[in-house]
Amino acid sequence: MHTSPLAQPGTGDAGGMNVYVVQTAKEMARRGVEVEIFTRQTASDLPPVAELAPGVLVRHVVAGPFGGLGKEDLPGQLCAFTAGVLRDEARQEPGWFDVVHSHYWLSGQVGWLLRDRWGVPLVHTAHTLAKVKNASLAVGDTPEPLGRVVGEEQVVAEADRLVASTPAEAEALIELYDADPEAVRTVAPGVDLATFTPSRDRAAARAALSREAGARMGEDDVVLAFVGRIQPLKAPDVLLRAAAEMIARRPDLRSRLTVLVVGGPSGSGLAQPRVLVDLAEELGITDVVRFLRPRAGAALAEVYRAADVVAVPSHSESFGLVALEAQACGTPVVAAAVGGLPVAVSDGRSGLLVDDHSAGSWASALERAAVDRATRGRLAAGAIEHAQAFSWDRTTDALLATYAEAAAARLAPREVAV
Ligand code: UDP
Repeated sequence: MHTSPLAQPGTGDAGGMNVYVVQTAKEMARRGVEVEIFTRQTASDLPPVAELAPGVLVRHVVAGPFGGLGKEDLPGQLCAFTAGVLRDEARQEPGWFDVVHSHYWLSGQVGWLLRDRWGVPLVHTAHTLAKVKNASLAVGDTPEPLGRVVGEEQVVAEADRLVASTPAEAEALIELYDADPEAVRTVAPGVDLATFTPSRDRAAARAALSREAGARMGEDDVVLAFVGRIQPLKAPDVLLRAAAEMIARRPDLRSRLTVLVVGGPSGSGLAQPRVLVDLAEELGITDVVRFLRPRAGAALAEVYRAADVVAVPSHSESFGLVALEAQACGTPVVAAAVGGLPVAVSDGRSGLLVDDHSAGSWASALERAAVDRATRGRLAAGAIEHAQAFSWDRTTDALLATYAEAAAARLAPREVAV
């Protein structure tokens, strides 16, 4: 409901969930399973129905004004959005859908009603959980409101199956949200291994980016990258502080170091680009840091390939697709040991996990993974290997199995207590 599969991820509210929905929908369609995705209409020039790929339709539902509503305003549009879906249903054959799969709690609220009306199973993926997020807020971040917490609890109680990305998320659903352990399935997200391939020509990837960034990025230079939505929770400021610390420890590094920050603003708070620009100035590293606009597919793969290390310093991260994509490109990842990142990154093999967010710890880890060439080479090989364990193909198989199982459980006669 709050973001469209047609949006460019890496800015605003579009991120890993959008990629997840697009990739699994396409894989389902390839297997002959038709998918229709309902999303809120956010511009007047969007058609009522758009084809995302053969067998995958996106339906734009009018619910409130096209512009001006933030994610936090959308609980007030749940009724209008649901009414829009039901109006679409009135024009269809009965038995339109076999399963409803909702993504994020707002859509879960809509899916709950549709499930009851259509008599089909509701499978829900939370993607992020308010109670987990609120437990590790960044400075300047606003806590998720009680309305979301209660809304999530309702969806968790109502869904026939809950899909978690990692064992940690499954545990959070059970421990913090009182989910029925029998209803929870852990399904790892994937990575597009056809787009995110290791570099054949790293010098070329660096040359093109170096022109765009206006920074020197030769073979012997050290390039660190942050890729993703620029918001306090993603903590790009940690990378900037670590870079300043690396230079303080080894002043000779300054002329060889570039820090790329790729992505657009999201939400409000300390890590907005303007604040990061100011921080770079305050740290005395404006000559080292470059901000680049968000990008898709092959262009994004070039960023991963150009980097010695991709940093994922998030305070909270349910999975971290960026980590997988970077590793698939043969780039080690230095990540915070939070949420799903210990699954996405194999510590010591495909990257390094850091236990805190201090500049000192991050400078040490980045120095090991990016500046020490022997370690970098070993981690790069491990990164390619680790990423191969994930694919959207596998994710989709597991989702379809979950749908089938949820449908069978609905049809099975219920035990009646006498
Ligand atoms: N992304 C992108 N272009 C960008 C930056 C990010 O397409 O310039 C995508 C990236 O490929 C990844 C997603 O946005 O698939 C971010 O997902 P992740 O799980 O890392 O974080 P989220 O945004 O879901 O918190």
